[in-house]
Amino acid sequence: MKYQAIAIDGPAGSGKSTVAKIIAKNLGFTYIDTGAMYRAITLKALNLKIKDLADEANYDFIKSTTLDFVDSKMTMDGIDVSKEIRTEEIVKNVSLVSSLKYVRVELVELQRQMAKRANVVMDGRDIGTNVLTDADLKIFLTATVDVRAERRYLEQKEKGISDMTFEEVKADLIRRDTYDSTRKHNPLRKAEDAIELDTSGLSIEEVVNKITHLFKELKHE
Ligand code: C5P
Repeated sequence: MKYQAIAIDGPAGSGKSTVAKIIAKNLGFTYIDTGAMYRAITLKALNLKIKDLADEANYDFIKSTTLDFVDSKMTMDGIDVSKEIRTEEIVKNVSLVSSLKYVRVELVELQRQMAKRANVVMDGRDIGTNVLTDADLKIFLTATVDVRAERRYLEQKEKGISDMTFEEVKADLIRRDTYDSTRKHNPLRKAEDAIELDTSGLSIEEVVNKITHLFKELKHE
């Protein structure tokens, strides 16, 4: 049986994970946050005190690492790491780690395996262009940089995970987007057959409804 997949890509703060989570719940699909997987590997690399994070040869540990989603929470080697992967230190290093070819090959393979076992809503940067090129629906979310920075800033403040100022959050977002969209392997890019949605002036509910409607239309429901 071929499972169904919705791919949601876009830059940081475009609302991907918030809407992907809700859509997955509404449809009874599994939500896969690929950004959390890159963050978890970054966390492990830092915990292992790897000196040269830019050297692919140091990432052999991925093969013996178990990554899973339990109740939509990122677990690594059986431990819930969903909080630890949101710290400033991870944010600072994750784009470098995720730009390495070896890291991408390993994680993309894992992501494809996950989509072979269940209906999924998967979000990230390269889902439509690389991970699930035959996804039933591909969405590319965008929003102005100020709107995205504001969302991230409020989210971090609310969760008490960082005391970065708005300007710092914005600068970090711009740095990460530039890095993610100019890297050599699977850069952040809209797939040709993806539908672009600017979420700047839209509520979460409006974005969820639009995507759900597009999916149902596709399935003639
Ligand atoms: O989505 P999130 O902000 O958690 O992603 C963290 C980082 O992981 C991104 O900035 C990007 O460097 C990397 N990433 C990626 N490919 C994906 C998902 C995330 O390179 N499919």
